[in-house]
Amino acid sequence: PQFALLNLRVVLHDVVLLMESQALSKNVALEFMPGEDVTVCGDVSQLKQVWINLLRNAIEAAPQGGSVDIALRADGNWAVVTVTDNGPGIPEDILPHLGTPFFTTKQDGTGLGLSVCYSIVQNHGGNIRVNSRPGEGATFTVQLPLADNTA
Ligand code: ADP
Ligand code: MG
Repeated sequence: PQFALLNLRVVLHDVVLLMESQALSKNVALEFMPGEDVTVCGDVSQLKQVWINLLRNAIEAAPQGGSVDIALRADGNWAVVTVTDNGPGIPEDILPHLGTPFFTTKQDGTGLGLSVCYSIVQNHGGNIRVNSRPGEGATFTVQLPLADNTA
């Protein structure tokens, strides 16, 4: 990996552009709410892959005409990025399996998207949390250390 200082607002904007067509094909509104400028130290291709995978899952989970919101903020020593969909949410019995390679509930799923996300984020000193609201959607939160905090 090639670590460099990254402006997450720019990185996320690029990812949203990449995912627009998949969202449009399902009539899902992709909304990016960039807060302040947030700088982390990371590998830009790997981190893009994280949000591509999370957005792909969110768009797949959202209903026709639904929405996926991406938000960015700094909180203490952390950059915080949330991806929220208004799909069915994640059944409680499935939550412990998220991130296990090849675990999928989809007919044609690979079950690799989240495991890749978890290992990349871990390699960046961060963490991923999942919040599910059954019947109302899911939120995936990625936290990465702010660059100022990175030795
Ligand atoms: P895949 O998308 O190929 O199934 P992933 O690793 O990306 O593999 O996701 C694993 C599983 O996690 C999915 O099959 C699905 O059950 C669940 N999941 C992930 N994201 C969401 C989401 N936003 N809403 C509901 N379920 C989700
Ligand atoms: Mg996936």
